[in-house]
Amino acid sequence: MVTVRGNALIGSDLTFVQDVSIHIDGEGTIINISKERKPTKYFLPSSYVIIPGFINGHTHVGDAFLKDQTYGLNLEDAVSQNGVKHTKFRTSSKEEKIESIKNSLDLLIQNGYTSFIDFREEGIEGIELLKDELKRYSIRGIILGRQTDEDTLEEIIEVSDGLGIRDIFSVTQDDLKLIAKLKENNPSKLVAIHASESEEIIAESNSKYGKRDLEIIGNCNSFDYIVHATYSKEEELKLLSKNKINVICCPISSMYNGLKFPPLELISKSKIMLGLGTDNVLFCNPDPFRLMAFTLYIAKSNKQNLSPKEVLKSVTVNPGLISKKKIGQLEVGFSGDLLALDLESNNLKFSKDVYSAITMRADQSDIRLQMYKGKVIKWKNLK
Ligand SMILES: [Zn+2]
Repeated sequence: MVTVRGNALIGSDLTFVQDVSIHIDGEGTIINISKERKPTKYFLPSSYVIIPGFINGHTHVGDAFLKDQTYGLNLEDAVSQNGVKHTKFRTSSKEEKIESIKNSLDLLIQNGYTSFIDFREEGIEGIELLKDELKRYSIRGIILGRQTDEDTLEEIIEVSDGLGIRDIFSVTQDDLKLIAKLKENNPSKLVAIHASESEEIIAESNSKYGKRDLEIIGNCNSFDYIVHATYSKEEELKLLSKNKINVICCPISSMYNGLKFPPLELISKSKIMLGLGTDNVLFCNPDPFRLMAFTLYIAKSNKQNLSPKEVLKSVTVNPGLISKKKIGQLEVGFSGDLLALDLESNNLKFSKDVYSAITMRADQSDIRLQMYKGKVIKWKNLK
């Protein structure tokens, strides 16, 4: 068992509590949070604050080897089946693909992520490649696979944590029925899809099906969540809310690709659980600090009202709840994944609000302690 003692953001509302002891058992689960004042190796200075480890709600960790090679291209030329990304996948060796994944995993951990939810390309082979690398890394990868010409949806859901469907055009009506059946038989697995990402995609959906993609997906309650919702309308969000379909937005990715800033305030107000992700590593590095700051600044400039605490929840508590795993909160029964940041660091000193400090000023250099399942992976006590 390991005990971490200090000030912490506790529970699903990230409530600031002074001097608590968080006990984590040998299995890596938080078994008790108390005001007990016993000495422990990890008795943190009073300027530190313990927070849940970050969860990246949406990644494509396989494409780090294409960093900056699609800047200026449109979405279609960058990541469609015949675009730069998939051409690279088809022409790369296994070793190159492993190096790409390893770079992403190193970046995620370095930046304070303890979990990520990946939309994994290349069917079973792609899933196995990532699973294999994860054995050597202190981070939880939740892998959502997609079907290929060789691998069926049934086979994919069997070997993964669920389905991460590319878009509405990659599934037939029969596939949607099959997905509903698979979800019914595997309720703990996740089913998700990219939707409402660009106006071009919506126009194509309209011309092919006579409906916007989100309208079709919003009526399929087999989906746990959708990724993007960048161009979603109020009535579509009502439909998602009604069918308990949550949303993961990727604001940096949207802006990088010259798209709109997602309607985050409207999504939150529609009683939809909102998570944030960094999307393809080829677009931007998986960095929660940059993601939070960027989100708050651009939301403000778009006259959207979002609080720093809400944004912090969208990279911890919310994606944890969306993933249906016991992660993303400092709470009994949840995984002992945590970070401690020093509020007296040069970045954070003098800030009067802990949530603003973490979301708009902190960076990875402020992480003093990082634990994954109760195991220390970073410890630099500078006091
Ligand atoms: Zn994506």
